[in-house]
Formats: sequence, C-alpha cells, structure tokens
Amino acid sequence: PGHLACVGLGMLLGGHLAPRARAYLEQADVVFVAASDAVVELWVQSIRADARSLQPYYAEGKPRRQTYREMIEAMLAEVRAGRRVCAAFYGHPGVFAQVPHDAIAQARAEGLAAVMEPGVSAEACLYADLGIDPGRWGCQHYEATQFLLYQRRIDPTAHLVLWQVGVVGDAACRRYASTRAHRQLLVDRLLADYPPEHEVVVYEAATLPIATPRMERLPLSRLAGAELSMQSTLVVPPARPPVPDPAMRALFARLDADSD
Ligand code: SAM
Repeated sequence: PGHLACVGLGMLLGGHLAPRARAYLEQADVVFVAASDAVVELWVQSIRADARSLQPYYAEGKPRRQTYREMIEAMLAEVRAGRRVCAAFYGHPGVFAQVPHDAIAQARAEGLAAVMEPGVSAEACLYADLGIDPGRWGCQHYEATQFLLYQRRIDPTAHLVLWQVGVVGDAACRRYASTRAHRQLLVDRLLADYPPEHEVVVYEAATLPIATPRMERLPLSRLAGAELSMQSTLVVPPARPPVPDPAMRALFARLDADSD
C-alpha cells in the first residue's frame, strides 16, 4: 500500500540528516526534494540519484497556493498508485512549512498512511548559535507578514522571532523580496513595543559546512535598510525584565504554609 513520509533534512548540508529520515530517503520508491538551494538538492541526489526536485513548481508571479497544490498533487498521485513516497524538506518539515502538513492531512483524509519525521530547523540552529534558551524568559514566533496583518499582543520581556522577514508584506506570496516600505511598516510596528535603539539580530544559519552563521546585530531603527534575504530570520531579544506578580508569590507561600 502507498505511504507518505515527509522528512526533514536539517539546515546544514550533510550534517543534520537523522538516521530515520535517511532510511526513508534510501528505501522509498519515489523521492521528492524541496531544499533551500540547489547544492542541497544535489546532495540529496547523491543519496538518491532519482530524487525529483519540487523547485520547478515555483515561478515568479504564480500564486504560492497554486504552487503548493501542484506539489501536493504530484506527491499524492504516487501514494495513490501504491508507492512508498519520501518527500524531503530542508530544516524541519513541519516548521513554517505548509506543504508537508497539508500533504499529510490530505493523504490521511483519503485513507492513505502518512507520517512526518522531524528535522533540525532554523529555530534549533538559532538557539545554539545565538545562545538563546527559549525557556529562560519565553519566546514568541510569528511569520512576519501575518504578524503585521493581525493585531497581536507581543511581550517585550520575552524573545520575539520573526520568520520570513526578507519577504515581509508579500501577502500573496508572489514576490521574492520585500520593499523597503514594507520593512519600514514592520519597524514602525515594533517601535510600538521597543525603543528605536533596541538591538535586534538578523540571523542566517550556516547551510554549508565551510560557512559560518550570519548574526548581524543592529538597532531596530536601522532594520529597514538592512540586507535581508529569503533565509533571514529576525530575532528581537527581550527589552526589559518581566514584572513580578507578588500576589501570586503570596498565594504560593500560603499553599506552602498550608502543606506544612
Ligand atoms: N522548515 C524550515 C525550518 O525548519 O527552518 C523553515 C521554512 S520557512 C518557509 C522559511 C523561513 O525559514 C525563512 O524565511 C527564514 O525565516 C527561515 N530560514 C530558512 N533558512 C534559514 C537559515 N539558513 N537561517 C535562518 N533562518 C532560516
């Protein structure tokens, strides 16, 4: 019977592929790959020479939704035909990635078996490279355009991570870079919660073993002029310590006293 496995390749070429993901790659009847760059796809093709790239479905001006529908259809057609399909995505296949989630949901809706195999995401790399523990003060993650299009309550005493900052404002997903005006809207929104001199970090994890991560620190006020790419993630560290809640501390103390 057909089977779909959406697996993560990790961020670092050849360095993050977990044994289970590799097993799916090696044993599948059909392999699809969607990586961030051509070198990573070539590397997957060194494991499976017959791996089919999903890149050709992307096209400038083509709505991203249509691209995604076509990718999912290509994968599911093989599963319906009874094949074991492995679809490999860079990073974690379920982190800020719609196609793997939708493909698995649709396969299951059709009664087909489908699983997701996690991978090392950009998030995992940024915690390591920037020395951030999301558990220390908390950490919020948003997709940059969605963050602007909805009224969100951000907590400037926790970390804030904004994904897809390099394409912020591209609501229809038609362009491959955002304009300075769009970036200024993001800066203006952040200025409602952070001072202009607050230091933010443009982060890009290394994807090749010889490369080093980009960790560019700059004041928030200069963000609109910064160089941002498809690979950039914005990290906004806490601006101040959280305000303690003495009433809750007193309630804790009372419970402790009662249990003595
Ligand atoms: N599934 C991927 C993962 O697990 O990291 C994320 C895919 S999401 C469609 C693309 C966004 O991921 C980018 O806009 C950026 O925010 C982030 N990203 C991708 N490559 C990155 C890298 N090398 N370093 C930092 N962030 C990256």
